[in-house]
Amino acid sequence: MQNNDARSDRPRNALSVWWGAPVFVALATLGAALLEPYLADRPTWLLLTVAVLASAATGGVRAAILAAVLSVLVGLLLVGRPFRDADHLVHAIGFAIISTGVILLTGRLSHWRKSAHVHEADADRSLRRAAVLAEELGLLIDSATNYAIYMLDPEGRVAIWNKGAERITGWSEEDILGKPTAVFYPAEEAATGKPAADLDQARTEGRFQEEGWRIRKDGSEFFADVTITPLHHEDGRLRGYGRVVRDITDQKAAERAIATREAQLNSILATVPDAMVVIDDEGTVLSFSNAAQRMFGYGEAEVLGRNVSMLMPSPDRERHDGYLAHYIETGERRIIGTTRRVMGRRKDGSLVPHELSISEATGGGRRMFTGFMRDLTEREATAARVKELQSELVHVSRVSAMGAMASTLAHELNQPITAVVNYVETAHALLDAPTAETLVLVREALADAASESLRAGHIVRHLRDFVARGEVQTRVEDLPALIEDASSLGFVGLRESGIATVLRVDPGATPVLADRVQIEQVLVNLIRNAAEAMTESRARVLTISTAPDTTPGMIRVTVSDTGSGLAPKISSQLFQAFRSTKRDGMGLGLSICRTIIEAHGGKIWADSGSGEGTHFHFTLRQAAAEVRDGG
Ligand code: ADP
Repeated sequence: MQNNDARSDRPRNALSVWWGAPVFVALATLGAALLEPYLADRPTWLLLTVAVLASAATGGVRAAILAAVLSVLVGLLLVGRPFRDADHLVHAIGFAIISTGVILLTGRLSHWRKSAHVHEADADRSLRRAAVLAEELGLLIDSATNYAIYMLDPEGRVAIWNKGAERITGWSEEDILGKPTAVFYPAEEAATGKPAADLDQARTEGRFQEEGWRIRKDGSEFFADVTITPLHHEDGRLRGYGRVVRDITDQKAAERAIATREAQLNSILATVPDAMVVIDDEGTVLSFSNAAQRMFGYGEAEVLGRNVSMLMPSPDRERHDGYLAHYIETGERRIIGTTRRVMGRRKDGSLVPHELSISEATGGGRRMFTGFMRDLTEREATAARVKELQSELVHVSRVSAMGAMASTLAHELNQPITAVVNYVETAHALLDAPTAETLVLVREALADAASESLRAGHIVRHLRDFVARGEVQTRVEDLPALIEDASSLGFVGLRESGIATVLRVDPGATPVLADRVQIEQVLVNLIRNAAEAMTESRARVLTISTAPDTTPGMIRVTVSDTGSGLAPKISSQLFQAFRSTKRDGMGLGLSICRTIIEAHGGKIWADSGSGEGTHFHFTLRQAAAEVRDGG
């Protein structure tokens, strides 16, 4: 608009300047010429002065200047000698002064007009800008539909209301304007004067914020997050209050639901007997339940944020990251979704057999794995006790069988030995007075004695066959699994005696051909002996390791301890029956171990350095891998 005005001004002015001034001067000249016969040339300057005035009024300062210049020319031409008398001179001077005054005044006027015009345009522009801003602000405030944004006057009455406020509280703008804020408060709070107190607090502290119950127009309640800010005039006088209210009923309900669920979950986790460990996809422990703390002996803070492999013995400890990466990469499940028996490692280094089931979950875009673990120590201790009792029973029955055997033997041997004694004594008597005849009798008696001795020998061999009896029923067995089973039996009670146990299994050294029960018996025997040898030692570490033996096709199993080492008087007869350094030892364990290992086609031996404990080794035949797969 303003630009259009400027454009329309310019042509009008140009027209008035270039055409107006000559026209007015011409009219004045014409007037002077017409009046000359009556008034001589006296009115010329006066009329020219009027022409200058008229030009100034219509065309502005430039027209006035042009008119003045033209008037001077005309005046000089018409009047001829303008200064011929004082009268003329006065007229001319009057013309000059008035024209100059008119020009100066017009110049000033046009300057004022111009600057007034500029100010007017500025004011117009600012006004329009303010209107746009106010409109935009209004839109912005109304677009915040989740927020009630409104303004109160200094007395706490609603002065400005927005759409969000209408949506949240149900009050329309015309209904609420001028009402006190108390209408938003529950009746009992309004009665105690809280609405005014809140405004006071906002004013004195510069801001008021709280979460609390507020009332809608229909009387229903909502939980609100309220902020009140005092607004001031430039001179510091209170202008009113800005109030922002957000309905957080749903958010609060959700938060409470989460908190309740979390509390429930925690109480369940605190009471379930199974240990629970949650890890992320890198194996980092995110949660470690109370039962897990009891089972592994670690406090929560010692495990959270660390790699879960710390709860595993070798070789899983070193491999777990690989297992996890393999699963994440290929999605190939090995243990997830199944339950299996595994070994864990406590803080004190001892092993804890447990049943592990793992499930997978995704939460908050993260992959998580939850492991539930049931401690099998007790169950296996019971199983071990049963097995022990069984083996004791076997042992007792073996002893009683041997006792029976011994009496049978005594009985059986009695006869041939008595016979031998008789024959020998007879021969001895006959040799008192030897004749050719008696010599024949002596020879016969000795031959009979020899044959009776052979019979006795036969009986003794029969006994040995009985003791070392039994063909082994070998099958293809996974050696690490077999060792784990045996260890869980053998390790029962070892934790209490402060013995740390280490399994070092070569994954390549399997499978073997073995009678599982018998080899487990050998291992349990060696573990028990090792534990007994360490009762007096300071360092108590029991290690079971496997490796390929130097003899091809054989696998070696070693049970090492950090105990007393072998007693010199026994080391050469270790594997013989009835050799023992223990007060109530039978001295049968190692001899039975040897019988079993040799029946399997392997060897058993021990080595011991001074102060280094003892290593018992035995070998078993390795089964071809494909046999295992087929079987
Ligand atoms: P027992 O254990 O009844 O004595 P064993 O045949 O099992 O019978 O053991 C025979 C002997 O071998 C033991 O009395 C002990 O002196 C010795 N022995 C066995 N294992 C070890 C060991 N790990 N360290 C030291 N000595 C051992």
